Amino acid sequence: MVSDTKDWNIKERILAVRERMAASAGRAERNVSEIALMGVTKTRTVAEMLTATPLIDCLGENRVQEAASKKQEWPSGVNAEWRLIGHLQGNKVRRALTLFDSIDSIDSVALALTVERIALELGRIVPVLIEVNTSGEVSKTGLGPDGFPELLDCVAGCRHLKLQGLMTMGPLTDNEVQVRKAFAFLRELAVEGRRRSGLALPVLSMGMSGDFEWAILEGSSMVRVGTLLFGSR
Ligand SMILES: *Cc1c(COP(=O)(O)O)cnc(C)c1O
Repeated sequence: MVSDTKDWNIKERILAVRERMAASAGRAERNVSEIALMGVTKTRTVAEMLTATPLIDCLGENRVQEAASKKQEWPSGVNAEWRLIGHLQGNKVRRALTLFDSIDSIDSVALALTVERIALELGRIVPVLIEVNTSGEVSKTGLGPDGFPELLDCVAGCRHLKLQGLMTMGPLTDNEVQVRKAFAFLRELAVEGRRRSGLALPVLSMGMSGDFEWAILEGSSMVRVGTLLFGSR
């Protein structure tokens, strides 16, 4: 069957990425078991996601609506951790909290306060990451490093948010020095964040298909890989 070939391909690709993760962890003298592999599944079918799920640590989706329709098809017996990695609008927070186990893209005080208010209403504690724009590219939206202390204080003070750590996207270049500088910057920001908040902040979500090895060398604890696992979108 054609679909068997495709399943096999996805499994092979995941194992290949896991091997590369282990090699990078070895170079950095880190334990690869401390580094989670997120399968980024935007635009992928539920069938593809179900093939990948046993071999990855969590799923990353960018859009609330897409996740909602996938979850309707999702078999009730299959457990997976769903993490939102795309920008979240205030009017979609309630929906997002019914679908996702964590919100990895908290990038403003206003969004943090909205998630806190709705989590309180729902009686939930929501794991979150603060997403920082570390690349210095002005065209990119989101939270610049200058806004980090204020957002950190806000999230740390929200009783229904559980701050796990930070997330970033590397700059869109294949220049190793520039990309690694952005990842190193996030790592340093987490050090400052731990000092300031007293929280452990164990998660550093950084690295995608094109740069996950550099991210691991710079301390990533969660790589977000789409294209290398499922093919080009
Ligand atoms: C799409 C996406 C990824 C995965 O990108 P690939 O290059 O396909 O691995 C990771 N993180 C975020 C936030 C994304 O939007």
